[in-house]
Amino acid sequence: MTGVPVSITRRGETIAQDVAGGALVDRFGRVHRDLRISLTDRCSLRCTYCMPEQGNEWLARSSILTVDEIVRVASVAAAAGITTFRLTGGEPLLRTDIVDVTRRLAAIVGPDGAPVELAMTTNGIKLPALLPELIDAGLARLNISIDTLRRDRFAALTRRDRLDDVLAGIRAAADAGLRPLKLNAVAMRDVNDDELIELVEFAMEHDAQLRFIEQMPLDAGHTWDRERMVTRDEMLATLSTRWSLTPVPARGGAPAERWTLDGGPHTVGVIASVTAPFCGACDRMRLTADGQLRNCLFSTTEYDLLPVLRDGEHGGTDAAIDGVLRACVLGKLPGHAINDPSFLQPARGMNAIGG
Ligand code: SAM
Ligand code: SF4
Repeated sequence: MTGVPVSITRRGETIAQDVAGGALVDRFGRVHRDLRISLTDRCSLRCTYCMPEQGNEWLARSSILTVDEIVRVASVAAAAGITTFRLTGGEPLLRTDIVDVTRRLAAIVGPDGAPVELAMTTNGIKLPALLPELIDAGLARLNISIDTLRRDRFAALTRRDRLDDVLAGIRAAADAGLRPLKLNAVAMRDVNDDELIELVEFAMEHDAQLRFIEQMPLDAGHTWDRERMVTRDEMLATLSTRWSLTPVPARGGAPAERWTLDGGPHTVGVIASVTAPFCGACDRMRLTADGQLRNCLFSTTEYDLLPVLRDGEHGGTDAAIDGVLRACVLGKLPGHAINDPSFLQPARGMNAIGG
């Protein structure tokens, strides 16, 4: 990092100054290590909890970051202590330059010379075609989303009849040996809440870890209903009818709480963002496909990198990028406010934020 003094302003107010250098620590002492990089808002599925069936407002193509721009931001972030990049979207495998992005991001090293870890969250559909190249390019870990094993349900939930393609993607990942392999499932009442045990068994058969996610108010259609969401406690009650669950200690900054099943070695995870938020240990920030930095999934404020990257704002230097990263971290609130009556859902749907 250059250490050049930088002043970052938003709406005329100076929000960060001369901030280059050191780890990305927020006002509450949380050190940021994990950058989620959304590569696109486009997707091959239309999951009801994420995207509308039709009429989605796509990000302008001209605003989508190029590989060079992504690598530039990621390199500055790594210099400031980010150690993990997670590629997401939308569907990250729809980027035609995905292998190039992967190779260039995996080659980034931190200030201590250690390589970053490169992970991806995907719907899995294009994995059979792309996985060998992605692994060769340096992809280290995969999360694949699968909410149901029943074809009719999958078609209704994702509005696309692609279950067989997702299953082939999971098989490809399991066979390729990337571990830990994680499978994500959003638990939904009267949709898949009778399938929780089956999903865990399916994951065990593939030597993968199932992680159930509480549904969050992030769908572009704004249809989330607290009364209907399946809670962590309900999930655990269901799983306890089949296995004896023992908490796994040392969760660190991980979003999932984990339990061993019948003493292990298999585990199940629950990401309870709504009923048991883990904001106090959050070490994540997000870069959207159109160059906005976000300090929380639920944030309504974004920190725009495009003027620095494209228009030379604040000198257009790496120090200026670093300044925006720090402004974003300094603006982070202690927690999300989903449970406050005043909660406002972000304008972007999950596909445009990056899950
Ligand atoms: N398309 C990829 C996929 O589905 O894995 C990556 C992007 S997707 C937005 C990332 C994760 O967010 C997925 O596991 C998905 O299930 C989850 N997700 C999307 N909308 C959600 C919501 N409203 N509540 C909880 N999880 C959600
Ligand atoms: Fe696409 Fe992932 Fe959103 Fe489903 S959850 S619509 S697969 S981005």
